[in-house]
Amino acid sequence: MVKKIALLGATGSIGTSFFEVYEEQKDRLKLSFVAAHQSYQKLCPLAIKYGVETVALTGITDLSEQKYIRQSFPELKLYFGESELIRLLENEDYEIGLNAIGGSSGIGATFAILKRGKKLALANKESLVMGGHLVQKLKQPGQIIPVDSEHSAIFQALGQHPLSEVKKLIITASGGAFRTLPLNEFASITPAMALKHPNWDMGAKVTLDSATMFNKALEVMEAHWLFDLPYAQIEAVIHPQSVIHSLVQFIDGSLLAQLSSPDMKLPILYALSYPERWNSELVQTDLLAHKDMSFQALESARYPLYYLGLEVAQAGGIMPTIMNAAAEAAMQLFLSETIRFTDIHPLVERIIQASEQIPDPDLETIIACNKDTYAKTLALDT
Ligand code: NDP
Ligand code: MG
Repeated sequence: MVKKIALLGATGSIGTSFFEVYEEQKDRLKLSFVAAHQSYQKLCPLAIKYGVETVALTGITDLSEQKYIRQSFPELKLYFGESELIRLLENEDYEIGLNAIGGSSGIGATFAILKRGKKLALANKESLVMGGHLVQKLKQPGQIIPVDSEHSAIFQALGQHPLSEVKKLIITASGGAFRTLPLNEFASITPAMALKHPNWDMGAKVTLDSATMFNKALEVMEAHWLFDLPYAQIEAVIHPQSVIHSLVQFIDGSLLAQLSSPDMKLPILYALSYPERWNSELVQTDLLAHKDMSFQALESARYPLYYLGLEVAQAGGIMPTIMNAAAEAAMQLFLSETIRFTDIHPLVERIIQASEQIPDPDLETIIACNKDTYAKTLALDT
């Protein structure tokens, strides 16, 4: 049986890995439609290459630009704006929605896919960070299949075991670009240095979030909502080789893990093949090439954003949305060299301290607060 896929974030890093999986598995997968934000020069030729007729571009709002794109690609059915993407998710024929939209903008699509009752292959961790409490009420058992490599590993290691048999989830972290950089050199970190990940080739935001380790705080929150476990049962450990993608510790003391070379094609493939496993040559792992596997704790002086993220996770409510929006904007300021790397944490902390808690925000409140906080942080209005 061929599975029909709606691919969101098709032009990004995950989107690009998806197409390699798609090429290999073309007898089992069929794209229903593809979406990106603005990069029509990349998305439209991709759609034509893979025979996909329906294409959404959420970020093209200028009418003359829309007209130009329609004229340039007459063979495509083009939809513009976020509301059109949501309409496609509500009406088109697909079995799995792969949400690989970058950052907080991915939340609307997550809710549209879940409400439609379709399977959600989720790369966009921000949707759970911001709206996990709402997703928890909405999701059906087995509806969300994680794409994030750590969560895919936990999902595989958990298998059919009940949560009562789980002692702990242990999320591995590479340590990012600055695991060994002397702390007194942090103030002179440049954007180019922070955009270089030691093991993974990813989009800019998640690479930067790995350098600050904010990504791991997001992943702890993602695990909490995906696997319905309290924060006291979730921890992170540095594993610089990124071969063990995460572990489950069971109540009898056993640790089960998933191992493979660090390559997103494998968790993407698994999310699409689940509950089956499909034959694939895409990611091969030579254990002898990974002789040294080491672990270390996350230093608080090196990764303050991770520890702040844990506090925010515990606080819950609107706070994770505020922190994520502040961090997204702070990264933007760092990339434009308006602030230094070492200014990111104090700026995010100030924004959080100046914000009011909303204990159980609805989706509208979350989206509005995300936008306000982002604008406020970007304007350095603290
Ligand atoms: P990229 O930045 O490489 O790509 C983002 C994609 O989302 C692009 O297709 C972009 O379109 C699209 N997009 C951006 N803004 C919007 C918007 N407002 N509405 C709709 N689409 C939008 O990101 P990644 O592929 O690295 O990451 C995607 C998600 O997956 C993130 O949540 C990330 O944390 C998560 N993830 C990524 C991993 C990785 O290896 N890359 C690993 C684990 C998780 P356009 O090109 O037009 O701007
Ligand atoms: Mg990850």
